[in-house]
Amino acid sequence: MKNKLLNLRLVIILILSIHTGVLAQNPLLDPFNTPYGIIPFEKVKPEHILPAFNITMEEDRMQVQAIIDNPQPATFKNTIVALAKTGRKSSMISVYANALAAVNGNPEIYQTVAMVSHLGSAFSNDLLFNEELFKRVKDVYLQKERLSLSQEELTLLENYYRWFARNGNDLSDMEKERLKDIRSRLAKLSTIFGQNVTQDRDRTFFHLTQEEDLAGLPERVIASAAEYAKTKNAEGWAFPISGPSTGDYIRYADKRTLREQLLKLSWQIGNNPNEFNNLDIAKEILNLRREMAQLVGYNSFAEYVLEERMAETPEQVMIFLKTFKDKVKPIAEKEIENLHAFAISQGFDDVIRHWDFAYYNRKYREGIFEFNTDEVKPWLPVGHAINETFSMVSDMWGLEFRENQSLPKMHPQMLPFEVFDANGDIKAVLYLDLYERAGKMGGAFVGAIRAQNKESGYNEIPLIGLVCNFNNPSGDNPAFLSLGELSTFLHELGHALHHILSDVTYRRLSGTSLKYSDFVEVPSMLLEKWAYEPDFLVRVGRHYQTGEALSQEMIDKIILNKKEGRALSEMRFTIADAALDIALHDMRMPFEGDLCDWERDFTQNYSLFPSVEDACYIPSFRHIFSIGYASGYYTYTWSDMMAWDIFNEFRKNGIFDPATAERLEKEILSKGGTVHPHELFKNFIGREPGMDAFLKSFDE
Ligand SMILES: [Zn+2]
Repeated sequence: MKNKLLNLRLVIILILSIHTGVLAQNPLLDPFNTPYGIIPFEKVKPEHILPAFNITMEEDRMQVQAIIDNPQPATFKNTIVALAKTGRKSSMISVYANALAAVNGNPEIYQTVAMVSHLGSAFSNDLLFNEELFKRVKDVYLQKERLSLSQEELTLLENYYRWFARNGNDLSDMEKERLKDIRSRLAKLSTIFGQNVTQDRDRTFFHLTQEEDLAGLPERVIASAAEYAKTKNAEGWAFPISGPSTGDYIRYADKRTLREQLLKLSWQIGNNPNEFNNLDIAKEILNLRREMAQLVGYNSFAEYVLEERMAETPEQVMIFLKTFKDKVKPIAEKEIENLHAFAISQGFDDVIRHWDFAYYNRKYREGIFEFNTDEVKPWLPVGHAINETFSMVSDMWGLEFRENQSLPKMHPQMLPFEVFDANGDIKAVLYLDLYERAGKMGGAFVGAIRAQNKESGYNEIPLIGLVCNFNNPSGDNPAFLSLGELSTFLHELGHALHHILSDVTYRRLSGTSLKYSDFVEVPSMLLEKWAYEPDFLVRVGRHYQTGEALSQEMIDKIILNKKEGRALSEMRFTIADAALDIALHDMRMPFEGDLCDWERDFTQNYSLFPSVEDACYIPSFRHIFSIGYASGYYTYTWSDMMAWDIFNEFRKNGIFDPATAERLEKEILSKGGTVHPHELFKNFIGREPGMDAFLKSFDE
């Protein structure tokens, strides 16, 4: 009976769609007649997304109903595998919509994404609270010992079982209704939160019209500010409120009051008195998450989340962060002391504040090491740096990257690469989208429109996007990377490799789809380490005009310079934010106060500089409010702990050693989420993870 109702629903949607002409011309619903089954991006219009998503999700609903209605007893195949195979097309469309909003967003697309996210979470809620479905999953789970399942199959089964079991299937109907409402409200709020940050940032810019306000800035920064001003139809010079240009201004500009002004503007994103203000949204998200966790039997949201992480509990995360802080805080304080003494010698007569740090730090480094990290930029034109990085990956894993402009593209600026393995077989398609532009989400990230899988009996290759926000080429010059950006690119490439080298059966366990997300940053944090290895630098650095390689002298300076300030940067950007995240999500009572006041109090324990009255970071802390890192910001550092251990293996065997790389692929990168990360790590290294290698790296 239910089947008939569902069919009727689908028929109605189909009729409506045909009537409005959407279906007949919807390229998302036709078979993708493209290489590798890539979405025919150029043919898809934003208005195709929602109807296609609706129809494919309706098909999912029918598939799930068929699983429930199956008169046969529940088996691994007719329940778990059948469930795993649902949602192939709808999830691809949903990821696509989100990707489009991230790389080429506008209000119409944001609206579509909000709808897709709302419908998706409503569907997911329906599944989660479907008692008949849970009963079938539980039936299979209870006989798991007798089913002789592979490790991957067992993980898939356990993940499904825990998904249902952890989410309140034993609750009363009223409580279940409340849970459903909370989930769908949360999905909506987190989308809005992220869009508010982007829109508040894009709405304005830091505008200068007096030449004297540019004092101290290098030509390159001035030129790109002049070009940015033109795109904003403004006189003079303009800087986006966040991103590399802001960093440049803070590092170079002599005018202290203007540095202060710009930094404060950037800290106010999401907290301005306009329609993009996120303060109440953040508070509502936190309170709803806590309520949800408590409904299903946990003390706090952090407890609920960490139960499924390597770290296991909020207490263990805080102990980890404290051990880390105890190690780096004294080093960081010493670094500031040195910096302050230097600033005084330059005629400075105040304490070092936030907006002084980057400025004097640069000058200090130039003084002590006769080195400014920007001096490296002419040796790092983007094209060469990326080609050389790809060639390193080729040496290590036998992968070859071939640009193919004829593949469908989501945005004209995207560079599509076919990735082939050592046998010449296609392994993945990788899109690079490197430069900043309006409507593009800030930061750097990797996403898979489709993850590697063999659900249909053959290997479906992953389709991956690697997105950065590098400065655009300016004038006749090519675009250059800073050392930090080189490291960012390597980080994202680590995530991409996790997808490219994935060799699993099920999409839901493929690539970076790990339930234990404190392991997910291991490949990325690992790859970052190459950015400061002499053998890699000599390879990747080539002067854009003279073609000469980076000199040994310059490389020595880079390494020394990297060491100086590392503890400080961990204190400023990692430990404090990770602890803030856990503290926010380990609250056990409704939060009624002012989040900005709370933030100021909390961060006092962590800050190395005098606090700033009107700064508030929470309303723009997208990682924990809209990108899925809630109670998980520490995961970077936790992963880094293991990355250092693995990196030491490479140092022992040679940093381009193909045998170590192959072992990494075999034991970790190919396995996705099919095996518990403790096991993956132990299989590679031969023992339990520990903090030693990580902490020692601060003494290097
Ligand atoms: Zn990452």
